[in-house]
Amino acid sequence: MLFSPLVDELVESLRCLPGVGQKTAQRMAFHLLEKGRSGGERLADALAGAMTGVRRCETCQNFSDTPTCGLCQDPERNTGLVCVVESPSDLLAIEQAGDYRGSYFVLMGHLSPIDGVGPADIGIDLLLKRVRQEGVSELILATNPTVEGEATAHYIADRLADPVGGRQVLITRLAHGIPVGGELGYVDGFTLTHAFRGRKPLAE
Ligand code: ZN
Repeated sequence: MLFSPLVDELVESLRCLPGVGQKTAQRMAFHLLEKGRSGGERLADALAGAMTGVRRCETCQNFSDTPTCGLCQDPERNTGLVCVVESPSDLLAIEQAGDYRGSYFVLMGHLSPIDGVGPADIGIDLLLKRVRQEGVSELILATNPTVEGEATAHYIADRLADPVGGRQVLITRLAHGIPVGGELGYVDGFTLTHAFRGRKPLAE
């Protein structure tokens, strides 16, 4: 404690944010106290409101202020199509692309035995229950193309390998490949291999 326990506590609290170390936390705290009091008060209110009011949607697990989120309540969305993503930021990226009109399931993570994250921790049973009960025809596995993301996608696909309620659910995976506008010479070998495997007829 150099001069104020309240400042120390603010700095320590800010360090819970990802990528924020001691120096950055100090800079943020001093900024709020020195020049950003109204912003700081708004931040405090927003934090308190979000921490008590934001819950997980009972259908898709995304953040929501209500038991079911706005996307799941939207009658325009195709509920027979479910896109499985790892995080709300993945969902936002897909929404901002603007083409997808189906629904979602947000895992809030991926399988990671080394970190003790199993199927129950990411809501796999809730997802499977939804697929069985709500007539889902296609499950798009949009987990990240990382080791954990691939393992999670394969685990979900394995759990749905047998017909669900007498019908086979189509399981698809997002294509991995060359970025639009990219040049082959700059693409890494792993991505290029995936792009080759995922090639399709020119007419599509
Ligand atoms: Zn929802």
